[in-house]
Amino acid sequence: MALFDAGSHARMMLLVDVALPVPLARIFTYEVPSELVARATTGARVVCPFGTRRLIGVVLGAREGEPPDGVKRLHSVLDTMPAVPADLVLFLRDLASYYMAPIGEVMRLALPPLEKEDSRALAEPTLFDSGMRGVATRTVQWVVATDAPDLGANEGSADAPRGQAAAILAHVRATGDVPTARLAALWGNARPAIKKLASHNLVRIEEREAPRDPFFANAVPRDTPPVLTDAQRAAVDAIDAALVAREAKTFLLHGVTGSGKTEVYLHAIAVARAQERGVLVLVPEIALTPQLVARFRARFGDEVAVVHSGLTVKERLVMWQRIHRAEVDVVIGARSALFAPLKNIGLVIVDEEHDSSFKQEEGVRYHARDMAIFRAHRCGAVCVLGTATPSLETEHLARTGKATKLRLPGRARTQAMPRVSIVDLRRIGPGPTGDKRISLHLHRAIEDTLKAKEQAILFLNRRGFAPSVQCQGCGVIASCPSCSVALTFHKRAGAVVRCHYCEYERPMPTQCKACGSAELALEGLGTEKLEETLAKAFPEARIARLDRDVATGKTVEKVLDRVRAREVDILVGTQMVTKGHDLPFVTLVGVINADAATSIPDFRAAERAFQLLVQVAGRAGRGDLAGRVLVQTYNPEHPAITFALRHDVPGFIEQELANRRELGYPPYARVALIRIDAVDENEARDAAQRVAEAARAASAPSVAVLGPAPAPLARLRNRFRFRVMLRSADRAALRRVLVAADKARAGLPRDVRCILDIDPMQLL
Ligand code: ADP
Ligand code: ZN
Ligand code: ZN
Repeated sequence: MALFDAGSHARMMLLVDVALPVPLARIFTYEVPSELVARATTGARVVCPFGTRRLIGVVLGAREGEPPDGVKRLHSVLDTMPAVPADLVLFLRDLASYYMAPIGEVMRLALPPLEKEDSRALAEPTLFDSGMRGVATRTVQWVVATDAPDLGANEGSADAPRGQAAAILAHVRATGDVPTARLAALWGNARPAIKKLASHNLVRIEEREAPRDPFFANAVPRDTPPVLTDAQRAAVDAIDAALVAREAKTFLLHGVTGSGKTEVYLHAIAVARAQERGVLVLVPEIALTPQLVARFRARFGDEVAVVHSGLTVKERLVMWQRIHRAEVDVVIGARSALFAPLKNIGLVIVDEEHDSSFKQEEGVRYHARDMAIFRAHRCGAVCVLGTATPSLETEHLARTGKATKLRLPGRARTQAMPRVSIVDLRRIGPGPTGDKRISLHLHRAIEDTLKAKEQAILFLNRRGFAPSVQCQGCGVIASCPSCSVALTFHKRAGAVVRCHYCEYERPMPTQCKACGSAELALEGLGTEKLEETLAKAFPEARIARLDRDVATGKTVEKVLDRVRAREVDILVGTQMVTKGHDLPFVTLVGVINADAATSIPDFRAAERAFQLLVQVAGRAGRGDLAGRVLVQTYNPEHPAITFALRHDVPGFIEQELANRRELGYPPYARVALIRIDAVDENEARDAAQRVAEAARAASAPSVAVLGPAPAPLARLRNRFRFRVMLRSADRAALRRVLVAADKARAGLPRDVRCILDIDPMQLL
């Protein structure tokens, strides 16, 4: 490296720009001592003196130049190769700039999952040592059949394995080596039987290195790809052509529920892998889609890295290292998988691209779908956005030529779309339960389904027993002391009331706080109560519930497995039941209260309600049996409902786009929210006022500055919340105003929090 130095008046040195983990939107420059020059390259983790401390930063770029006054020298370089691949660094810089987020915080999204960036990390100098200090290799037990013949080949022998042991032995002999965990999953407490088999030398127990995969306990036999339908073929051909031509093209794969989008992904992935390019697959919530993951593994085996929040930090680190070393080339995960250190990416897939979980709602508020398009573009990769209900943003990309639309208009196995009908709750009374939310029509439909030995899904987007507790004396509703929301009554958790926004919980009150009356009524219907009511009304039915109170991580999979094994007749649940599950014997879907979704104060409420209805309806009739859907509502004329009734996705999109255009909302304009909150209400309001004034002062006629206004959720975790909304079709002008507002943030009192949310998805 040419460093001219010594005596000349312009002392040229190698300088690096570094992102440090501090909440400042700036980059820090350091001088590189000559012994570190070779390793202080883009993406390397470096130890930097910072005040009296040392911090671990990431090199954003290196250049030769005259050292600025007071520049400090790098202390050391941590790893033997850069932790963050160079193209990922560039992408993250773009992301930081787009969201106006501090680069140090953005960089953290891509750093390996280490326990903490403290002194211990400093003492652990490398990520890439073989042996990987600090990372224990876990082993698990496998059961292996021996060659020994059955002890008592003649029946009746006292030693012959019987019952469970016999069944397990037969299973191991039929399928080959099996992890003990898998046997335990199949037989419950299998260990005594396995011990017995081992003591008779019929099986052997081996310790083997554990695979780093949370879905390991599931047996996933390899599958054979089906013959593609014509529509699937056309979609696959278009994607393949772009891959082969190495065009950075974006596709919108719009296929109705059950049209076989996953099969299209699998084919495209095979092509990208044949080109030796990496593949990134983003899915909404991985815990809710075990079946999708299983299908990927059935096709590609263990060469698929599943990034999952259920992994421990160490397991995630091992996964990260495997990806970094290019030992796996397909990475599947929720939004954070966007930052996997995958190199040479050829294909990026976003499944259910419309799903709101792709938006991160804390810290760096990025949208993983938007950024996936960005990252793919940077890598020259093909991007495929799949959905049955395109977001208006993505539809707009297709209409403006920035994405190519591929259609899968019918279901893959020629099943008909389910018949959707409305139950107008203004006209249809309650069924035998007396609860008007289980209408006579719905009740009869459940009876028919049970009689036919088919399955029903009932969707209700409220967990808990009763969503509110109201005083019968004065009408006051019990609310959270720290948030402006009603407390939900939970019966099975021990008759408590809980806030669904913070951790607050207390025993069910015995009297009203306002007037002292002891007459408190449980109002509304939650999934817990729905389950109980149904159990009384249909005592013969096997009922399961799927919501956050009963199901997290692996238990979701267990519930779905039971439904698939037809051990459940009625599945009750929140959005969790609407996701892409493929349950062939579900023939009835009931939407208990469609109005809950349409009445949210957000310009996206209709779009979300429509997507929800189409997705949940798509769970019905996926097998050989015809499906039907009942949508209960007091507002049957709502467009989200009438279009969903006819499966008319293009019709809904057309109308909703027209609305957005007229009102000047996305995708025709950009929105940014400035979120201000503080413990003191006046302080929060004043701060919001100041930020709004700064924005107005810098504003152009093309930028609307709205507010400040209290947030719809006016108080949360003891903080009062205000918002200023900026809206403009002129991106550059909007940005200028944002920059001005951002400057005003600096002068706010310390206990006021002010956050920029660019392209917000939630107005709450
Ligand atoms: P989507 O993701 O569009 O909702 P899936 O990919 O889950 O649809 O496919 C729906 C069902 O159709 C699955 O059971 C899948 O195995 C099956 N399937 C998909 N493509 C084909 C095909 N070409 N031939 C036969 N079955 C298919
Ligand atoms: Zn009262
Ligand atoms: Zn609360």
